[in-house]
Amino acid sequence: MTATALEILKTVYGYDAFKGPQQRIIEHVIAGNNAFVLMPTGGGKSLCYQIPAIARPGLGLVVSPLLALMADQVAALRQAGVRAAALNSDLSADDRQTLWRDVHGGTLDLLYVAPETLMRTDVLERLGGVKLSLIAIDEAHCLSQWGHDFRPSYRQLDAVVARFADTPRMALTATADEPTRAEILSHLAIAETDAFIAGFDRPNIRYAIEEKDNPRAQLKAFLKRHDGESGIVYCLSKRKTEETAAWLREQGHDALCYHAGMDKAARESNQMRFQHGEAVVMVATIAFGMGIDKPDVRFVAHIDLPGSIEAYYQETGRAGRDGLPSETLMLYGSEDIALRGRFIEESDAPDQRKRMERQKLDALLGLAETAGCRRQALLAYFGDRSAPCGNCDTCAEPPRLFDGTTSAQKALSCIYRTGERFGQAYVVDVLLGVENDRIAQLGHDRVSTFGIGTEHDNRTWRAILRQLIALRLVDVDLAGHGGLSIAAAGRDFLRDKPTLMLRVPQPPRARRDKLARS
Ligand code: ADP
Ligand code: ZN
Repeated sequence: MTATALEILKTVYGYDAFKGPQQRIIEHVIAGNNAFVLMPTGGGKSLCYQIPAIARPGLGLVVSPLLALMADQVAALRQAGVRAAALNSDLSADDRQTLWRDVHGGTLDLLYVAPETLMRTDVLERLGGVKLSLIAIDEAHCLSQWGHDFRPSYRQLDAVVARFADTPRMALTATADEPTRAEILSHLAIAETDAFIAGFDRPNIRYAIEEKDNPRAQLKAFLKRHDGESGIVYCLSKRKTEETAAWLREQGHDALCYHAGMDKAARESNQMRFQHGEAVVMVATIAFGMGIDKPDVRFVAHIDLPGSIEAYYQETGRAGRDGLPSETLMLYGSEDIALRGRFIEESDAPDQRKRMERQKLDALLGLAETAGCRRQALLAYFGDRSAPCGNCDTCAEPPRLFDGTTSAQKALSCIYRTGERFGQAYVVDVLLGVENDRIAQLGHDRVSTFGIGTEHDNRTWRAILRQLIALRLVDVDLAGHGGLSIAAAGRDFLRDKPTLMLRVPQPPRARRDKLARS
């Protein structure tokens, strides 16, 4: 009689219950199905392939990129009485012989192997007649050509999988956005219905995103709610971290900075002070991240737009590891969008990579501009479905929407009439009918859209244009001076004129607080 998944969980691992979606995944694979498993680090992915490998007859093949990790896993499994081994180039001739004898004798449950080793023809030949219980590909995002951890040998795993077509295959990862996910599924021929995505929710973290109006005042108001607590303030540049830290010290905060331009000793000393301090504000670039294991980080603020939704999730995820309520704030403005865009355009990355980066930026802007629940939108990006959370800024104060159809038409016409080459500030001035020398010189005080937008103020028009950019109705010339032009979807919009609901710009919290007080 074969042991059930729960019996294995109890006897081998000593745990009482499955975590999150583990049970569903394990039963799905034990039944002989493929699976794609996307779970954050620490979510418990290993059990998802180890238990089926133990429960099913045959040898479970685990492809893993890291030798050290493999050795740890094998040692832990053996200690628990599981017949596991790792095949790698460090093995002595004797050990190698023993290993193959065990494999062919059917006395192993799990064999860990690096992709390079697995691809060797002698290894594939020796595995030829072996009955496999499953093939698990850990860190599966390594097969994505456009990902940061691309490993060419991972790319060839589709051939191995095809060779053992009747064997259930699993791909596991903690980092996969929509395009990478699609790439993994299609490359390994795993169906969408075999995808399990869960565990991304961090319910104790509150999310808030505000438009950048007066960043220092906004940061000050945010920190006021966190007196006596520690947290991180992320900035884009080294210079800005230093300036912001200095300013915060003037404001009476115990602020330190951390960026790659500092010498190692200073970085380590600041990290130590943060780690052990009571009320330390770490002002940092993204260089600050690896190896922070402070459980009581109570807040994370981004005073510049992060690089992507993944980066935002990772960076905000450093708050509240202890499970207690924690708060995050992201500020973003049009300059951030232009700057991020310029990074992409000016990089030496191949075109396909750039396109991907642009999509990621769009997704992040979509999150910033959403009128719905932030958490729901964030989790949806990772494929995790959820209900509105009640614990984010848009849930607490649902943004007011207005019918922006006419406004959008006016904005698009004005961009068109002025030749699709001017930036946001100029277009807004023309809409508002501002009389200045530049507009007069260019004759734009005589176009039909001059002064047709006096129903909104400057701030509202900027918010409208930002939403049109986020909605991809308007393109920004990122390589040049941020000139606005009408995107394909914008042309469709002008032709079909569907109703377009837009957000009413919210005064930032700093100002709201002041208004409430006065
Ligand atoms: P991942 O590979 O997703 O990063 P691991 O498989 O290493 O995560 O698991 C993370 C931690 O959670 C490990 O210490 C593991 O022993 C523990 N764990 C996994 N499943 C359970 C469970 N059902 N109950 C309790 N602890 C678990
Ligand atoms: Zn919410």
